[in-house]
Amino acid sequence: MGKLLGDHAVVIGASLGGLCAARVLSDYYSRVTVYERDELPDGPGNRAAVPQGRHVHLLMARGAAEFEKLFPGLLEGMVAAGVPILENRPDCISFGAAGHVLGTGTTLKDPFTAYVPSRPHLEWQIRTRALAIPNVELIRRGVAEPWYEPAEERVIGVLLESGDESSGVAADLVVDATGRGTRLPVWLEQWGFRRADEESFDVGIDYATHQVHIPEGLLKEKVVVAGASRTQPVGLGMLFYEDGNWGVTTFGTGKVPPPQNFAEICALADEILPPHVAVALRKGEPLGEMAFHKYPKSRWRRYDKMDRFPAGIIPFGDAVVSFNPTYGQGMTMTSLQAGNLAAVLADGDVDIAGRLARATKKTTWPVWTMNAIGDLALHNATGDAPWWYVRVGNLFDQFLGAAETNPDLAEWFLRRFSLLDSLYMVPSPRVFARIVRHNMGLLLREKFGRTRKLDDPVRTG
Ligand SMILES: Cc1cc2nc3c(=O)[nH]c(=O)nc-3n(C[C@H](O)[C@H](O)[C@H](O)COP(=O)(O)OP(=O)(O)OC[C@H]3O[C@@H](n4cnc5c(N)ncnc54)[C@H](O)[C@@H]3O)c2cc1C
Repeated sequence: MGKLLGDHAVVIGASLGGLCAARVLSDYYSRVTVYERDELPDGPGNRAAVPQGRHVHLLMARGAAEFEKLFPGLLEGMVAAGVPILENRPDCISFGAAGHVLGTGTTLKDPFTAYVPSRPHLEWQIRTRALAIPNVELIRRGVAEPWYEPAEERVIGVLLESGDESSGVAADLVVDATGRGTRLPVWLEQWGFRRADEESFDVGIDYATHQVHIPEGLLKEKVVVAGASRTQPVGLGMLFYEDGNWGVTTFGTGKVPPPQNFAEICALADEILPPHVAVALRKGEPLGEMAFHKYPKSRWRRYDKMDRFPAGIIPFGDAVVSFNPTYGQGMTMTSLQAGNLAAVLADGDVDIAGRLARATKKTTWPVWTMNAIGDLALHNATGDAPWWYVRVGNLFDQFLGAAETNPDLAEWFLRRFSLLDSLYMVPSPRVFARIVRHNMGLLLREKFGRTRKLDDPVRTG
């Protein structure tokens, strides 16, 4: 428990963002109430208001570590419930990015552990733990809007969706964790503030997912990813989940449609997956109906750039930034926002929104920028960006090419992609030099049929 900052905090939305925020607030406010409009299942289950939960969700190794910091015992609890672990073993994972297959057949040098919970399972584990905190309460009711007091330029609570006089609930701090469909921009305008500037990229992602039971013993992998590329705009991710089935998600980028049925998924797998995985998938039994989801735009609302913002409210999670989901980072980035919130509250309650927005800008910028570079250069996305984004994207493509046969570079990529190491994906000049050397070595070998010293295995720094 930190220094008490107030009596009551309210969180709108009990998805991953809201639950993480509630956990942090419980250290600084006597009571935390989370309001959720959607029906919440008793166990792990899909929810109407979180349609993305039906599609595969990668939990990055960094996200797992951050969630564990918030909810000690979470990872052990997930494993006890059957959630697969990705250990540092070469046959756990088959990973392809932008048309390059990376790091197969090698063990990583540094420790690497990741977990593969389904999205509904992870949310349920976190919900159970958040609601076990004595001063956190969840109420199943929608919030109509924050309760704004113009004289103080401050949000003083929330107005619940009931319409009667008693619908106001006072709070010292309100957290908007209502996801990327947040109405905060509209409310800000109503209260006489301006909307936050928005950065966005038209990524035109179209998801199609089937749950599949693949007979035991056919696959050692637990994660198979074949990202989309310039020439192959449809990608595929398969994750082996705690229920013993596989979530198989395909996604079109740049408005290209994904497969519409299991036969089309198998045909795509034949084209882009390692042959033994495609064969195993064909032997699988598709379960239930396919799920579809459109994700037209990645979007970052730049609250960090606002010079005037009401006191008493903070946007959180996807309500601030919604990343292209095919990179699998949203939940992990939300866990980093929770770390930022904890650091901000530990320093007191002056300008909470401003300090949090600036801290979140620091953690968001490198990941957002690298995604934009990848989207514009390699995934046929469109949007306003500096001229050098596409150049860097082309260099990155070369990097991935080198990483196909260079385990050190593949590990460098995997650790940053998992957000474990620096959030910056831009290789240092030293690493760049090594990529160039490596590619030149390959070129010379191709041309002259001999190995030059230039092609000595590279070590990354
Ligand atoms: C297709 C897709 C695939 C994804 N894949 C990945 C992945 O592989 N890895 C990853 O890390 N992330 C992924 N993400 C992102 C991830 O789902 C989100 O980052 C994560 O759910 C956190 O979101 P959130 O809690 O901020 O908002 P949401 O999950 O959108 O939840 C918002 C909550 O607020 C509630 N709510 C809304 N309005 C009100 C109201 N007025 N009153 C009360 N309650 C309200 C809703 O009912 C809901 O429960 C993906 C996203 C999409 C769209």
